[in-house]
Parts: sequence; C-alpha cells; structure tokens
Amino acid sequence: MDWKQLALDRQAHLIADLQQLIAIPSVLDEEGVTAEIPFGPEPRRALDWLLDEGQKAGLAVKNVDNMAGHIEMGEGDELLGILCHVDVVPAGVGWTYGPFDGTVEAGKLFGRGAIDDKGPTIAAWHAMQMVKESGLALNKRVRLIIGTDEESGFRCVDRYFEKESMPTIGFAPDADFPIINAEKGIATVLFSQKADVADGQLLHFQSGKRINMVPDYAEAHILKGSVAVQQQFKSFLDSHGVTGAIREEGELTILSLNGKSAHAAEPNDGINAAVLLATFLNQIFQEGASKNFTQFIVDAFAQDSRGHFLGLAFEDGSSGETTLNAGIVRFNPAEGGEIRVSMRYSVTCPFEEAMTACMERLKNSAFAVDIQANSAPHYVDANEPLIQTLQKVYTEHTGERAELLAIGGGTYARVLKKGVAFGMLFPGREDVAHQADEYVYLEDLVKATAIYADAISRLVCGKTEGE
Ligand SMILES: [Zn+2]
Repeated sequence: MDWKQLALDRQAHLIADLQQLIAIPSVLDEEGVTAEIPFGPEPRRALDWLLDEGQKAGLAVKNVDNMAGHIEMGEGDELLGILCHVDVVPAGVGWTYGPFDGTVEAGKLFGRGAIDDKGPTIAAWHAMQMVKESGLALNKRVRLIIGTDEESGFRCVDRYFEKESMPTIGFAPDADFPIINAEKGIATVLFSQKADVADGQLLHFQSGKRINMVPDYAEAHILKGSVAVQQQFKSFLDSHGVTGAIREEGELTILSLNGKSAHAAEPNDGINAAVLLATFLNQIFQEGASKNFTQFIVDAFAQDSRGHFLGLAFEDGSSGETTLNAGIVRFNPAEGGEIRVSMRYSVTCPFEEAMTACMERLKNSAFAVDIQANSAPHYVDANEPLIQTLQKVYTEHTGERAELLAIGGGTYARVLKKGVAFGMLFPGREDVAHQADEYVYLEDLVKATAIYADAISRLVCGKTEGE
C-alpha cells in the first residue's frame, strides 16, 4: 500500500478539515457549564464536529458524557487506541494571523491547535479512513479517542476510562516524533505565604491563567512611587530586553510587564513575566510581607527553573531534569501571596522524598508548600512489540532512526496502560505549541498522515511485530 501517495492525494481534504476544526475556538470556558457543556460550549462543538465526521464516514461513534468520545472501526477483542484532543489553550497575544482562521501561507497552516492537537487529530482521523478505504482486513478494533479537556487536567479521559475499556495498546499523536516512551511525573504544587501583616507596599499582584504555561503578562499595584521608580523600571525593562508600562492612577502606581509564553514543560523557552516583575519589585521593597513575597519568588524562581533553592533539583539519564514553572502568581494584602507551580519531575525522581525535603527546607521561610495534584511518570519498555512496530514504520517513512525520547509534557499516552506518544512534531521543527502564530507544515501534516495510516495497518492487520 502506497500510504505516502494516498496521503498526498488527500492534502486538500486534510487542510479543509483542519481549517474547520481550528475555526472552533475550543477553549475551556467554565462560566455557566452544564452537563451538556461540561467544559463550555466550544470544546463540545469541536467534539460534536469530529463525531459527526465519523458518522458521515459510516463508522461507529460514541459520545461519553459530552466530555470525550470515540470513532471506532474494525473487529476483535483487542483494541488499538489513538488518543487526541480537540480543546486548545487560549490564543494569547502577539498573533500575526487570526488564531482561528487557519490561514495557509508559505507551506504552513496557522492557527491555535495547528500542532497541539488539532493538526495531529486530523492526521490520525484521515489515517483511519485511509486504512478503512484500503479494504485490508482488521483483526483488532481501532478507536480514535477524542478528549476535550486535555489542556486543563484530563477530566475528559478520566471520565472516558471510567466508562470505556482500556485499549490493549495505543499511541497519542500529541507530542514529538519519533517516539516518546518516557514522560515525567507532573505535579501541581502550591506555595502560599504564611500569615504576615500587610505592609502597604504591594497592593495587588496578578500574573498567569494556566499553570501549564509560562505567564506572558504580569501586573502589580504599588503605593504611588517616586519619579525615580519610573526611571528605574524603564531601565530594568531595557536591560532585560522586555516591554512593559508604568502609570499613575490616583494613589497607585501600576506596573505591567510583558514576558514570553511557552509550555511549562520547558520554562526556559519563555520569559516568566511574574518572576521578572517580582524581581524588579524586590529591588524597591523594604522588609515586610511584600518583600517576603518578592524575595521568595526571586530565590526560588529567578534564573532557575530547576528547583535548586527549593531542594527539588533532580536529573536522570532516561528523562533529564526536573523542571518548575511558576504559572499563576498572585498577591493581595489580606491573604498574602501564592504561587502555583507545574512541576515536571524526572521518571526516577523519588517524588515524596523530594517534597518532604522541600517542606523541611521552607520550614523557617515565609512560605509553605502543598501538593495539589500528582500524576506519576509514565514509561513503556523499549522491547514492547508496539514500540518496535512504530520504530520500523517511522524509519521506513523518514529514513531516520526512530530514537526513543523522554519529555516533561504530559500526553494522553500516560493514561494508557501500554501507550506511547508518537508525533507529530518532526525532529528539527520549532515547537510552537501554546505560542502565538502556532502553525503546522502542510508537508508534515501529509507525512504524518501516511505514517499513522501505515502504523495503524501494521498494528491491526496481521501479526504485530515480535508476536
Ligand atoms: Zn496537546
């Protein structure tokens, strides 16, 4: 079967479908949620759209509590799961193209979700159709499992797997090629300021909307400062190569700072606006609750996303360093400050032990630490037939070795018993997930579609490698 040619023949159709899906701004909206729209109207609309496509193609579809769903084909007891998601993070600022327009220019298709995860979802969906149309006999069932809440905590797949059976094997086209068989542990950690008397210096601090993104904007209100503070702030911005503003409003001086957003899995790819603004404020505050707040941020997060000050630094050969992203940072005089951190810890990191050491270290500091959520690391052995088959397919289509990778981002693969992340960002491609002007190369969209079709056919038609 010439999967490459078959995928190329569908290019126009792939683009049109991706544009339709991108046009649905499927961002979580918790205002007015109901059982009908558990994550807001748009994620639901994206789910409905894809399930409709499945139905039109004559396949079995199922909606699981409006949170997730699947499109299924094939026969047999065993099940191959392909896990994707149709929700996206908010567009954010700084776009050249309309974030929901799906503009095609210079061989790229631009839009929120183009690479995370609507492009890969469309590629996998078309791959399924290609296998169906090939007429090959399937000895397993294949399910495209569609989540609508991947970006905000996996509530969709949690519900899905409460009601539906676990696939025997699977892959998630929600990260990088070649194959990711190790995903770090992901914990949400809250650092909150211990009771402290309000000192009247910092009146308000707010930055970040999601812990899985580096915040690109921070704002602080302080008591009206001197002219010197204005000049100091401007030269601070210049020396850090960022933009911002300072203005007076009544008794207040309002400072804002623009950083650069990036995925929490590698905080060093962005510029954390909260950390930088706190770094400036720390220079002008005198002792007290305000100073304790900014000093803690400076100590724990300035120029260090690896948790050295907090005693959380760890590194291993199979998955690399533990990372911390201060994603949501707030302060108000009545309650003090809090910093919500997405911590991505190495596969072999003894998490409980590390957190105990961190608590111990903060005992005499102005802050306390609390674990709010924890998802254990995920690992699939390199000798599994699933991995060997995917490696073979990848190498045949690209001429490259299919190296096994470890990442800090969580993919749907981690909710599978035996599943890996498989694409679709090719090696050497810039990772633009969660960033302004997110895009996918059309060439890659087609290539990934061919790879997925080939992989599905080998995993469900005939014997699996090594069996
Ligand atoms: Zn994703």
